[in-house]
Amino acid sequence: MTVEKTYQAGDAIESKCNRCKDVRMHVVVAMDGGEIVKVQCKTCGSLHKHPKAKKTTAKRPRGSRAVAKTVKALKNAAEQVQDWENALNGKDMGSAKPFGSEGSAVVGGLIDHPKFGVGVVQKLVPPNKMEVLFRNGPKLMVQTM
Ligand SMILES: [Zn+2]
Repeated sequence: MTVEKTYQAGDAIESKCNRCKDVRMHVVVAMDGGEIVKVQCKTCGSLHKHPKAKKTTAKRPRGSRAVAKTVKALKNAAEQVQDWENALNGKDMGSAKPFGSEGSAVVGGLIDHPKFGVGVVQKLVPPNKMEVLFRNGPKLMVQTM
């Protein structure tokens, strides 16, 4: 007995059709190294990729992707804080103006936001916004004065 059925172009196979939004009979259109890469829905005639076998897509990629994402997020957070510290470098924290106060929307100036803390105004975005770099990252704020 063969363990796995091998397909070839022209064979019929069940696959999830994105257009029908259901599992339909499909015809194998293209193969790549024993793997089905493209199928055509017999119901609506649309061509689409055939999802890989369940054992390869189910759990492992999702887990490793999540880990990779977390590592990247941590790295980005560290880099972000570094950017913020660089932006603050040489500036007088005491000069930070309360967010929304008169004269606070000046490029390079420091503002003190009740929620995000001290930030550096990066640029003014007409007509009434400005980009401010906070410890948690740049934010587009509305100038509320
Ligand atoms: Zn279909």
